[in-house]
Amino acid sequence: MSKIEFKAESKRLLEMMINSIYTQKEIFLRELISNASDAIDKIYYKALTDEKLVFNKDDYYIKVTADKANRTLTISDTGIGMSKEDLENHLGVIAKSGSLAFKNEHEAKDGHNIIGQFGVGFYSAFMVADKVTVITKALDSDRAYKWESEGAEGYTIEPAEKASVGTDIILHIKPNTEDDQYDEYLDQYRLKAIIKKYSDFIRYPIKMDIAGKRLKEGSDNEFEDYVEEQTVNSMVPIWRKNKNELKDEDYTNFYQEKRYGFDKPLKHLHISADGAVVYNAILFIPENTPYDYYTKEYEKGLELYSSGVLIMNKCADLLPDYFSFVKGMVDSEDLSLNISRELLQHDRQLKLIAKNIKSKIKGALQSMLKDERENYEKFYGSFGRQLKFGVYNDFGANKEDLQDLLLFHSSKEKKLVTLDEYVSRMPEEQKYIYYATGENHARIEKLPQTELVADKGYEILYFTDEVDEFAIKMLMKYKDKEFRNVSSGDLGIEASEEEKKAESEAADNKELFEHMTKLLEGKVKTVKASKRLKSHPVCLTSEGELSIEMEKILRAMPN
Ligand code: ADP
Ligand code: MG
Repeated sequence: MSKIEFKAESKRLLEMMINSIYTQKEIFLRELISNASDAIDKIYYKALTDEKLVFNKDDYYIKVTADKANRTLTISDTGIGMSKEDLENHLGVIAKSGSLAFKNEHEAKDGHNIIGQFGVGFYSAFMVADKVTVITKALDSDRAYKWESEGAEGYTIEPAEKASVGTDIILHIKPNTEDDQYDEYLDQYRLKAIIKKYSDFIRYPIKMDIAGKRLKEGSDNEFEDYVEEQTVNSMVPIWRKNKNELKDEDYTNFYQEKRYGFDKPLKHLHISADGAVVYNAILFIPENTPYDYYTKEYEKGLELYSSGVLIMNKCADLLPDYFSFVKGMVDSEDLSLNISRELLQHDRQLKLIAKNIKSKIKGALQSMLKDERENYEKFYGSFGRQLKFGVYNDFGANKEDLQDLLLFHSSKEKKLVTLDEYVSRMPEEQKYIYYATGENHARIEKLPQTELVADKGYEILYFTDEVDEFAIKMLMKYKDKEFRNVSSGDLGIEASEEEKKAESEAADNKELFEHMTKLLEGKVKTVKASKRLKSHPVCLTSEGELSIEMEKILRAMPN
């Protein structure tokens, strides 16, 4: 039996992880228990569609056993198990390609825990173990295998004996060192507390043999040792619990346990709806943009449970695209399990839930904007673009939902403002909502086109994101005020005496302007005397619907 080396990438990732990624070593247990629970879920799925398989709930559990004398901690499950190929594919390669590059890129910026995101939770075992042995037998297989590894060097796989389907993960716990204590991971009370903290709502029983001393029967001073198998977790899913019983920390733990993200949620919504449609949901607004958020790879969706059983990992129909950043789960008893997963999307109940959820998210964002401005701006920094795309897409069909959630930088306030704030400050004679586009604030401030508007004392919104102007074109108006680019031909500002003078000067120098227009033929449409320049000799403006910036973007787009 030869040792197979981990792929080079895996090796480095493993080393980094053991040494630095997780701040709390204790979460290895959460990861291993989640995997065990996932493995039981997989059998459950199978039983749903395979008539030969009967899922008898009592047969499915997770057991955590500490053996102090041998320094081993075993996490056993009666889940689906792993074949030899599974062992090679799932435990032989750490993370998917690209994740290491991602980590290198981001580590410097934020010391976040990326492990959950890349499906390498299993390897967190090496934070507390110097050797990990996996003995597993897959469903539909009469063979069992033993996988073993001492860390970065590689692993071995060999045939093994195991009577029943499922997996035992055996951790050989590291000896204590001067800096790090590992004994606690062999202590039954400590283990019990860790399970309670992170895995309480796991739907299958997590059992432990708890040892104790008790009075001998019939005696009042003689004690005896006893061992009792206990189910440590309450198995009540957090979403079925009363909101009043839950602390922020419980939601954060749930978010991290579920690996919804590697950040902390900015806000959570706990919904217990029992109107036209009955469902429970826990939704999260993340703090940070997932690394693949603005790419095609990103998949939106919520976990969908039917009466407490996961039936879909990412139900996309539950979220509109413009709220695709929302994470979380929905559990409903109204969804019939007879409906195949494909048919679910046409389910009337599901549509009702989606509609309901949409308005809850909108409401949550609005109240955050109103009452927790700082948090809202954090959120907007991460996901504001998505809201703007939302306004732009579907020909502005969602503008009612979104326009009041938008923020833009204001020339006056020097910070982000809402359209409502802008409009409510407009002087009576101001006709339009003015905006200027450019790469960044500094550049916009230097635009000669802003001078006239700013001189009038009008506020200008700075558009630095490509999508800004496109979104605004879809809105067209906000509270009956049209948007106007400061570089557009008609600014709707009354001509002053000076400006009238400029007009007559222009007429006097007609020939000169005609000559300049000719010289610049093909580059500009016309050269005119401007009424709006104060300190700059010249500026470019556009006529019609498209601003110069939009033309640039459209030209750059592939046909
Ligand atoms: P993730 O759980 O995010 O996929 P992990 O590193 O935790 O990543 O696990 C990797 C894979 O190993 C799992 O997806 C699963 O296929 C397999 N696996 C891990 N533990 C078990 C287990 N107890 N039973 C069956 N398969 C498992
Ligand atoms: Mg896992």
